[in-house]
Amino acid sequence: MPRLDNPAYEAALSIASRLHELGHAAYFAGGCVRDILLGLQPKDFDVATSATPDIVQAAFLRTESVGAHFGVVLVINEVAGERIATEVATFRSDGAYSDGRRPDSVRFSTDARHDVLRRDFTINGMLLDPVSFEHGDPLTVEHPGRTACCVLDLVGGRGDLERRIVRAIGEPRTRFNEDKLRMLRAIRFAARLNFTIERRTMAAIQAQAGTIHQVSSERVRDELTRILTEGGARRGFELLDESGLLVEVLPEIARLKGVEQPPEFHPEGDVWIHTLMLLDHLKKGASTTLAWGMLLHDVGKPATFTPPDPTKPGDRIRFNGHVEVGVAIARTILNRLRFSNDDCDQILALIKHHMQFGDITKMKQSTLKRFLRLPQFDEHLTLHYADVMSSNRNLGPYNYALEQLEDLGHEELRPQLLITGRELIAAGYKPGPQFKAMLVAAEDAQLEGQIHTPEEGLAMLRERFGPSVETNSE
Ligand code: ATP
Ligand code: MG
Repeated sequence: MPRLDNPAYEAALSIASRLHELGHAAYFAGGCVRDILLGLQPKDFDVATSATPDIVQAAFLRTESVGAHFGVVLVINEVAGERIATEVATFRSDGAYSDGRRPDSVRFSTDARHDVLRRDFTINGMLLDPVSFEHGDPLTVEHPGRTACCVLDLVGGRGDLERRIVRAIGEPRTRFNEDKLRMLRAIRFAARLNFTIERRTMAAIQAQAGTIHQVSSERVRDELTRILTEGGARRGFELLDESGLLVEVLPEIARLKGVEQPPEFHPEGDVWIHTLMLLDHLKKGASTTLAWGMLLHDVGKPATFTPPDPTKPGDRIRFNGHVEVGVAIARTILNRLRFSNDDCDQILALIKHHMQFGDITKMKQSTLKRFLRLPQFDEHLTLHYADVMSSNRNLGPYNYALEQLEDLGHEELRPQLLITGRELIAAGYKPGPQFKAMLVAAEDAQLEGQIHTPEEGLAMLRERFGPSVETNSE
């Protein structure tokens, strides 16, 4: 069992105790119960109660109403100097779902059963009473002064946890029909926990995968990112494929299947297998940009696939231009999923530069230095490592990059510039189209070690670009 003596736990426990004192039922609910039973540390502790939102608001000093419509109140506590916000939600049953996303109305209830039956999966449908032993079977939880709690399991969640199964509560088709996002959530939990999706639950997803488009792009993006970054990314994408969701949400990735590669460079198999192998390298907690960079790095291969030319003996499969085409395809995907500009820029940079490692030992000093100082270069390195470990396992360029990073250090990679716009203006040049080219040339020369002072820099520029405008006009 995880140690549950952290501030978030303390806060939720005190809230449940207070609600009990006032005569209301109050439980820990959903994901935190699942995680406690799995011996994992819950991210947060949600409380479900029979008390209505107005009672909850009156019972605590500091509250914020976040999801008033759904009966969710945030109760703010300070535990050990830390501000803790706990979600306290009134038991409810959901009305009809006419948009495939949200219930049209909710009805508050004093019956925990109603609240459980509206939840998505049996493993997420358990309640845990941290205060009394009235319901369910005892469970030992390591916590000072408290040795046992009890779990209210009305949906067979404990059995499914033991069997390691994600199973919809109730009739799977109805539940996915109500809220299409649950299809992606099923995959996410199965991937993260390394569970299987129960047969009828999977069949219901397969039957309705085509309706996932009723979910907003932002929510699809967030679920996909979570599938990629919470552990089990490879399994998540295999399940997306098996469920029929992949071709709906990322048809460009579904197209990687069956795209053969030259065996001498890619003994592992087609582009889909290669991409899945990269995803195997994604650790829990990986950054969003690295994860999407890995997923999309070869997305340009299907469109650029060129079979060996039979008239040229020994010719091989080629993907000429796959990087540029991949960047363009990835841009379309990232726009469609409404990624932020910053995330988009970094993900596209990862794709754009991923083949450059192959040339790294032959690069000019200035090119090498500019490459090594790309923003978040560690992500480029990690992607490249995963790329070669998922193909020919040639770590030469990777090790060379590491050595160079260590040898060069900050000052050599990012030296104080000898020539800036200020020096150019002082020398009589006017800002204009040529200005930028001069600045790049000066920095290149500095990175190559060809100039060491501003004077040397200006002399070099005069020679290459001509004298300044004033001199010209004389
Ligand atoms: P995580 O650890 O990823 O936060 P979680 O199980 O806590 O997982 P949340 O999204 O935080 O998931 O939701 C909390 C609980 O609310 C879930 O455990 C589940 O009982 C319920 N729930 C959340 N989303 C849905 C949904 N779309 N349909 C039905 N129930 C849901
Ligand atoms: Mg949660």
